[in-house]
Amino acid sequence: RKFGYAIVGLGSYATKQIMPAFAGCDHAKISALVSGTPAKLEQFGTEYGVPKTHRYSYETFDRIADNPDIDAVYIILPNSMHAEYSIRAARAGKHVMCEKPMAISVAECEAMIAASRTAGKKLMIGYRSRFEPHNQLAIELARGGHVGPTRIITAEHGFPIQPGQWRLDKPLSGGGSLMDIGIYSLNAVRYLTGEEPVDVMAIESTDRADPRFRTVEDRITFLLRFPSGIEATCVSSYSSAHNSYRVIGTQGWIDMEPATPYSGHAMRVRKDGKVTDRTLPPSPKTQFAGQLDHLAQAVLNGTPVIVPGEEGLADLRVIEAIYRSAREGRPVRLQA
Ligand code: NAD
Repeated sequence: RKFGYAIVGLGSYATKQIMPAFAGCDHAKISALVSGTPAKLEQFGTEYGVPKTHRYSYETFDRIADNPDIDAVYIILPNSMHAEYSIRAARAGKHVMCEKPMAISVAECEAMIAASRTAGKKLMIGYRSRFEPHNQLAIELARGGHVGPTRIITAEHGFPIQPGQWRLDKPLSGGGSLMDIGIYSLNAVRYLTGEEPVDVMAIESTDRADPRFRTVEDRITFLLRFPSGIEATCVSSYSSAHNSYRVIGTQGWIDMEPATPYSGHAMRVRKDGKVTDRTLPPSPKTQFAGQLDHLAQAVLNGTPVIVPGEEGLADLRVIEAIYRSAREGRPVRLQA
């Protein structure tokens, strides 16, 4: 029997990326759907063969506790709803996969971790790049000192955001570009170093006259210092198009551009003056299917997940420090 997920929130990412990806899974399947829109439940229920008994609204959500076909719940809702539904899922006795950002505050992340722990269930965050071969190779090369010990990392993520969506409404998003896309720069420098930053410094640039940015930030640029002496310069933006990182060591660099797209990654390495294309052939298994199967296998085998709630919490700790640094106009020290 395959591991069954209940998909919570039938929006763009759920219906265009995650649900189609189950076709490439070896261990996981869609077993239930949760939506506030009956027409979507009907449409996607029919398309994915989910019977009416396995379709829920937000009001009937807690009844998932009585459905043994649901092993885990995958939360793909606006950011401020992640904590509530993750905690309700854990209380219903289910494992949880939750989209990034894990939640909108450190306190919420801690409550989610506590709820899953009390229930004796796993909590994993949807950091899909950790299941993508170029990013896996970059981690191996960077941490393995392929271009010498890492000294500097630059990471940039941004896109020009369209008006009229929950991402621009702070009560639902928890913040602007940093919560949504800049988190990829932050998460990448953390996985490329395997370290937690100790010093944070940030500046924000937001045109508050732009109707998109009434409640959330546009650009926020931040510097991180890591215990080994590595420094990272990271860009997060809702008004410019980039998706890249570069790991610079004493003998060269590892360059990924685009670094964290859905597909089409490209990688080059410069070592001792020679540039090599390290772009890999397309992988038979997508990063989405890899992520979905990972939780299934971790539960079946009783092994830990590589991106548990603690990883989401670690990002939120730094995000809160970045916002504080930008607000107060000074560096912020994080507890080692
Ligand atoms: P979306 O707006 O397309 O979908 C959100 C869904 O939540 C919609 O179906 C909407 O109906 C539902 N919803 C329920 N209550 C709502 C409310 N009060 N207000 C607004 N919508 C409500 O958004 P999305 O792009 O699918 O993003 C959903 C989550 O997935 C976010 O946390 C986002 O950060 C994450 N995401 C992750 C990736 C990734 O690559 N890992 C990509 C896109 C989105």
